[in-house]
Amino acid sequence: MERGGRTPVATEHSFDVTLEADVYKVRIRGSMDRVETDAQGRAYVVDFKTGKQAVTRGDVEHHPQLAVYQLAVREGAVDDVFDGGRPEPGGAELVQLRQGAAKKDGGDDVPKVQAQEPPDGEWVGQLLATAAGRVLDERFTPSTGDHCERCAFRGACSARAEGRHVVE
Ligand code: SF4
Repeated sequence: MERGGRTPVATEHSFDVTLEADVYKVRIRGSMDRVETDAQGRAYVVDFKTGKQAVTRGDVEHHPQLAVYQLAVREGAVDDVFDGGRPEPGGAELVQLRQGAAKKDGGDDVPKVQAQEPPDGEWVGQLLATAAGRVLDERFTPSTGDHCERCAFRGACSARAEGRHVVE
């Protein structure tokens, strides 16, 4: 498969880093499905998805999971597979294994790929800081959105009309 000139350096790569997010330090532990390197020596993270639902083009630009992977790269998450060096993040992508690509990208014979550019701006740090603040303050107010469509708790969720009667 053509990988845009990138070569694989690791699969199922575990990492454990601490990110600065505003006044918080946020520890992130996880596993990157695949890590590649590009011609400039940057690290590129690939995440395989097996669901039927793809994110929209706009959402992939601000996809939190991909963005956190890229921040983690910046904080040393892949140093051990780059001979101890600290590569710059060069982007990340979702590979939708159960969905075919657009015709111009190869059609149904290849999976749909949704790529995110290298991190830009402070929005991921702010997202992490908000999440950390909520956990520490124990503020778990539900927030509605597209994600509700696949949520099993809709019928008992205080933020939804159909669930409000259960909790009020
Ligand atoms: S239904 Fe409620 S709990 Fe489920 S995703 Fe939506 S806001 Fe969150």
